Amino acid sequence: MKICGVRAALALSALGLLLCITDMAAAQLSLVPQPKRVKAEHGVPHASAPQPVVIPEGFAPPQEVYAAFPEDNAAAAAPSAPSACQVRLQKIAVFQPIPTLVGAGECGAADAVHLDAIILPDQNKVTVTPAGVLRCPMAEELAHWVREDVAPLTQKLGSAVRVLDNFDSYECRGRNRVRGAALSEHGRANAIDVRLFKLADGRALTLTDVNVDKTWREAIKASVCARFATVLGPGSDGNHEEHIHLDLAERRNNYKLCEWDVREPPVAQAETTPQAAEQNAAPSATAEADDSDEAAQPLDVVPLPRPRPKLAEGAGLRLKKSDPN
Ligand SMILES: [Zn+2]
Repeated sequence: MKICGVRAALALSALGLLLCITDMAAAQLSLVPQPKRVKAEHGVPHASAPQPVVIPEGFAPPQEVYAAFPEDNAAAAAPSAPSACQVRLQKIAVFQPIPTLVGAGECGAADAVHLDAIILPDQNKVTVTPAGVLRCPMAEELAHWVREDVAPLTQKLGSAVRVLDNFDSYECRGRNRVRGAALSEHGRANAIDVRLFKLADGRALTLTDVNVDKTWREAIKASVCARFATVLGPGSDGNHEEHIHLDLAERRNNYKLCEWDVREPPVAQAETTPQAAEQNAAPSATAEADDSDEAAQPLDVVPLPRPRPKLAEGAGLRLKKSDPN
């Protein structure tokens, strides 16, 4: 300021005033404490005061880029609109939508759900234990099956169905857990393995148990073979002796595969001929290392026609291998 005053007195001109202002600015800048370079503990110099971070304009993303990143919980809080299948399923099942299943390789599915229970027409629920992870169309078909077939058929045995034992649903693996095998429908969330149903009176009806009412098992077989694309059970390939595999695999001409020998209970089996008993006990001639779907199976390897269980009309859907799907 002192210097400024001297110059102003000497010159008294507009130019002098301009220089004064300039010098004032320079003098004020010189008064701003500048950060000093100091030594840190380990000898690394750093500034004593934090420096402002300036992002060059070219590096600053436009606002719409930020807007494209959702909040952490935004996806869970605001799922996409339910599919038409899910809208239908809401009326007959308890489930949670799964945005998109993404697994290794070809595994995964869109429009999948976490199926907790099926709502019967009388509003009682059949719990899926553990909850199934299925494509919505598969979950929907399963729900219709339980509501329209399993529940009334089981009621004939004197009690209501309450639990569906889910042995396996979505799982990224090859058929029959064979590494390198074609992808199982389980890997597409398009299959479920059902082991048994539990009833309100405490009974457990295992689908493959020869001691369970045979008429019921045959009726259940007829119902699944009418509804699902693939049914694999005892006698199919040796891997389904204790559960029934159901899926909605897509095949040419909508061919269905129904492989489930509804076997006789021990007493009835003793009355059959030794040959028939042997054939009933042996794995199916069409056996193959294939879980959810059939591999190409030449018909000429089928040695003999096996005695067919007495089936209902709707059960005559046993189709031979026809689809390499
Ligand atoms: Zn299976």
